[in-house]
Amino acid sequence: MRPILSLALAFGLAAAAAQSQPQPQPQFGANQPTTAGAGQTKALSFAGGRIFQATGFGNTFMVTTKAGNVIVDTSLPMNAARHKALLRAVSAGPVKDIILTHSHGDHTGGASAWKEAGTHVIGQANEVEFRNYQTRLEGFFAARNGAQYNATAGIGRMGAAAANPGNYAAPPLADVLFDKEYKFKLGDLTFDCLAMPGETPDMLNVWIPELKALFIGDNYYASFPNMYTLRGTLTRPALNYVQSIDKVLALKPEIVLPSHGAPIVGAENVRKVLTQYRDAILYVHDATVRGMNEGKDVYSLMKSIKLPPELEVGEGYGAISWSVRGIYEGYAGWFDTDPATMYATAPSEAYAELVRVAGGAGPVAARAEALVASDPALALRLTSAALAAEPKNPAALTARQHALEKLLAASKNSNESGWLHAGLNKVEAARK
Ligand SMILES: [Zn+2]
Repeated sequence: MRPILSLALAFGLAAAAAQSQPQPQPQFGANQPTTAGAGQTKALSFAGGRIFQATGFGNTFMVTTKAGNVIVDTSLPMNAARHKALLRAVSAGPVKDIILTHSHGDHTGGASAWKEAGTHVIGQANEVEFRNYQTRLEGFFAARNGAQYNATAGIGRMGAAAANPGNYAAPPLADVLFDKEYKFKLGDLTFDCLAMPGETPDMLNVWIPELKALFIGDNYYASFPNMYTLRGTLTRPALNYVQSIDKVLALKPEIVLPSHGAPIVGAENVRKVLTQYRDAILYVHDATVRGMNEGKDVYSLMKSIKLPPELEVGEGYGAISWSVRGIYEGYAGWFDTDPATMYATAPSEAYAELVRVAGGAGPVAARAEALVASDPALALRLTSAALAAEPKNPAALTARQHALEKLLAASKNSNESGWLHAGLNKVEAARK
């Protein structure tokens, strides 16, 4: 019942939301790993000087108490020394606990740099399988990460390609693992770690009731969530985000600190921003499900589903159309009901046959070139077909380059830009 009820709520809120738009947040995706926070000279201070932030592509937080400090997330390895210097300048007290909101590399990368004798590392129980999954597919992810991030971010491969290290080979980072909740006191503060599946199944949030502060990990950043990431993942279930954000809203935080970007400050602002975010996710989910039940195909839903203006949250990192496909295929898998799809004959094999019938790659490339201005995505598809028949055809490579450049010029999404750059690199390589 929840989706229908909440969607009705979303529509009900539309008029009110139009009058009181949440304050715009800086777009996540604009900052690249090498540059975010690079000029920071002093840790940012929040919650009356009890929470400090070193900014990076992933932020590192320090919560200070008289009994010692707690670190929440540790950013990328390349940021660890800079973040440590910024936060140690605030307090040189012992690091009693490191809480990892989830086990993506941009959150766990600095953990070893922060660990002292006696420091506990806290994670949610799904960390065990999530790390096994990441390690199991290390070679696959290394190639995908390299393609997606290298061109735009220059951070290199996030983990080298490896031979299969075994299906259950990744040791957990945490020595304290919990299923639903793990609560402890340090000094005058309570750290309530709550399982909050969303962007990953091992996501946790940290609630500090005395400060009315909540660390939300990656279940919120200033863009529609990357519900399906192009570098490869299982679809991140929309309703997981919705349920976890609902739990956050019920706590009525006065400050919400995401691991990417700036905090959301003020109880009313938190309520508005997170309500809008939840409703945007729910809107896309419910519209996709409705279309599936009406027998619509994935491409028409990718084209037609758009957020209403009052739910626009930006697409600097995640994108609505990828999320629609992610939700669709997350529920239904890959079969599209065309019997041809049952067989291992690739579309590219049929492309090559059709291009031959059309007189070769030349005429197809010419048609693609003519389409670049009006429909670069269609032009790109035609060059895929032309190159399936003749992989080094110069006109087809040039038309492809133009289609990719046109799409790149229009792109405001860092993941999309990454893959367009990767496509341009491949065109260059094919010319050699
Ligand atoms: Zn992250």
